[in-house]
Amino acid sequence: MFQVKRGDIGMHSVKINEYLMFFYSGRFPEHAEFDMRLGGGCYVIHRGNRAIVIDTFGLAGQGDWVKDYMVSNHDTKYFTVVNTHWHGDHVGGNSLYKNDPIVGHTLTRDIMRQFPDDPKMTTQPNLTFEGRMDLWIEDIKVELHEFKIHALGHLAVYIPQDKILLAADILEDPICIFNFEDMTPEVQLSEFERMMAMDIDCLLSSHCNLEVVKSGGYDKRFISNMVDYMRAMLKEGRSGDFKNKLAQDYITKALNNGLLTWWEPYKEVHEMNVEAVEKFYS
Ligand SMILES: [Zn+2]
Repeated sequence: MFQVKRGDIGMHSVKINEYLMFFYSGRFPEHAEFDMRLGGGCYVIHRGNRAIVIDTFGLAGQGDWVKDYMVSNHDTKYFTVVNTHWHGDHVGGNSLYKNDPIVGHTLTRDIMRQFPDDPKMTTQPNLTFEGRMDLWIEDIKVELHEFKIHALGHLAVYIPQDKILLAADILEDPICIFNFEDMTPEVQLSEFERMMAMDIDCLLSSHCNLEVVKSGGYDKRFISNMVDYMRAMLKEGRSGDFKNKLAQDYITKALNNGLLTWWEPYKEVHEMNVEAVEKFYS
């Protein structure tokens, strides 16, 4: 374990294949910023001098680091941004691309506009849609799929030629963050089923284990592990013992199989999820 000062961003770049990069910041368990304790990342699809930047980070220096890297290492001249959802750690760097197309769900734009004083929300998507949209970067098709999970207007990015799905915050290693205020568990569980039915060989997400990304990503069991955690939490949410159980108690098998990796700052996420379930039942 090591500590970093507030402001240190510990950026990593990972080449996933000849057109796909992952940029990652964290995980620092003692960091003052929640985002840095959890660790998080964004993806870039690039071809020639063009790039699609999928999310722009949220803390000072992170988004700039990615843009500078693409310009220096890939001579990128033309950027398009895709925002997977409106949370600050995914849209905070949008101002770096204020003269470029920024694609997002209609709700992402609408929600960001409700926070005019939040510096992370100042540059909203300028090209919006609902449901499904396709982008092309030369010969690579990039499909945007709305899923009603985690945040209103959340998008997952599917690259059909390699059957890769970038799930952003829909899936996290070791546990996802519940939001039952905007979408019911039933809706979200059926959305997970829809994702499960897609033709996917490789799943990647924003808040995950860097070593897994480096070694080729996750498979569909990443989806079923999130579903199992959500179902079990909802099932036990009314029992007296609910508050005393650890996140690890719900994902023991996946941890033992090495499909998920426990990361201590996710204790905070589990506590938030316990509250979300209690609020849902209250
Ligand atoms: Zn999020």
